[in-house]
Amino acid sequence: MKFVLVGSGLAGGLLAAFLGRRGYDVDLYERRADPRAGNFVGGRSINLALSTRGIHALEQLGIAEEVLRHAIPMRGRMIHERSGELHFAPYDVDPNKCINSIGRAALNTTVIEAASRHPNVRVHFNHKCVDVDLESATAKFEDGEAKGDAVIGVDGAFSAVRAAMQRKIDNFQYDESYLAHGYKELTIPPAPNGSWQMEKNALHIWPRKSFMMIALPNPDGSFTCTLFWEFDNFKATTHDADVRRFFEREFPDAMPMMPDLLEDFRANPTGSLVTIRCAPWFYRDKVCLVGDAAHAVVPFYGQGMNAAFEDCVVLDECLAEFPQDRHRAFAEYFARRKENTDALADLAVGNFIEMRDKTASRLFRAKKKLDHFLEAALPGIYLPLYTMVTFTRIPYARAARRARIQDTIVYVALLALLLAAIALLLCH
Ligand SMILES: Cc1cc2nc3c(=O)[nH]c(=O)nc-3n(C[C@H](O)[C@H](O)[C@H](O)COP(=O)(O)OP(=O)(O)OC[C@H]3O[C@@H](n4cnc5c(N)ncnc54)[C@H](O)[C@@H]3O)c2cc1C
Repeated sequence: MKFVLVGSGLAGGLLAAFLGRRGYDVDLYERRADPRAGNFVGGRSINLALSTRGIHALEQLGIAEEVLRHAIPMRGRMIHERSGELHFAPYDVDPNKCINSIGRAALNTTVIEAASRHPNVRVHFNHKCVDVDLESATAKFEDGEAKGDAVIGVDGAFSAVRAAMQRKIDNFQYDESYLAHGYKELTIPPAPNGSWQMEKNALHIWPRKSFMMIALPNPDGSFTCTLFWEFDNFKATTHDADVRRFFEREFPDAMPMMPDLLEDFRANPTGSLVTIRCAPWFYRDKVCLVGDAAHAVVPFYGQGMNAAFEDCVVLDECLAEFPQDRHRAFAEYFARRKENTDALADLAVGNFIEMRDKTASRLFRAKKKLDHFLEAALPGIYLPLYTMVTFTRIPYARAARRARIQDTIVYVALLALLLAAIALLLCH
């Protein structure tokens, strides 16, 4: 069986490695140049948070250790107030549970190398897919075409494979929604001695209610900062003096660590934040979508790549379960993933509000402490939502449902305690 994969980003490389391991013939086509030759053009975040779901996928291929060797563990959120005051909130009651900051370029290279180890996997760079003939499973490129038994679109949020499905499948459901916010990447370079200028093992957040900046550590001592701000504000802030004033007012502790702020702000693009939902993710036994091509989510839960890696694991399992019936395998994969990635899309938008607004509040910090207390007191029974999403492989939809039930029980219990306390006071 021959698969033509379009897109060798994070999920494309990983999926090629899974399919190669099963002995399938794989041709992987990527519109960009080979990242292994040092010409990585990201266009997205420079570094990402890798957590349990992504690590599990890498473990299946025996490359988790290699990837984690280059990662920096982040044990919690470091909240920066305007006053410069810092609050550290661990991600979990167990201090060993952390998320991992990894470079996109290094990870992309590792998964492509893992795929290339299989002689039945061939990777072709500088091939841009422009269309797909669904019936014959043929991907068309600017300069030729490739026919397989199936084409898999792993070509990201603005997928050409999905666009072909949209054009040709009756009643194909498609929904995209953009946030009013965009993002811009900025840098905090290493200190003169090469070390990190802030706490290295934390994800730094400057929550400012309607906007925020975050920073993730890099192995070279630098931090990549991402400013999430309304597009209108980005557009209106064109003069260096305005940028300087804004940073002095909002991020006074970060500004002195950002000597290239003005150049970075001018030169770096403003990215958009999109949620994409579509259905179905497959066409007969001919075409299938994986990763952002099927379900792009906004980055506030740090799960887009982790979910894309989980897709690869599930598709691999479905192909193993139905080796003679690819149509059934694709349908089963879609059925197992769709509800969960829809739930993740909602969780990711919700977490933007939590990160930019609530993390600064005392009430939020008290709720996190209560979460950790209950998790420790009721092991295996009470699991905070963040823990379920980030540190387990409980399907996203089930995690969201369970968190709603837990929250209701906790609120009812707190209310009952409050009423009991009031009743006792009145009796006295
Ligand atoms: C600011 C930001 C921060 C993020 N942070 C995190 C995080 O911390 N943790 C996390 O899990 N996720 C994060 N994500 C999400 C993560 O980046 C994506 O979910 C992940 O990259 C999806 O992988 P993919 O392989 O599906 O798509 P991509 O990584 O986008 O790869 C698609 C590939 O297809 C290629 N391609 C596109 N079109 C064509 C074509 N026509 N022909 C041939 N090739 C093509 C592209 O060049 C690219 O190489 C973040 C996203 C953003 C924007």
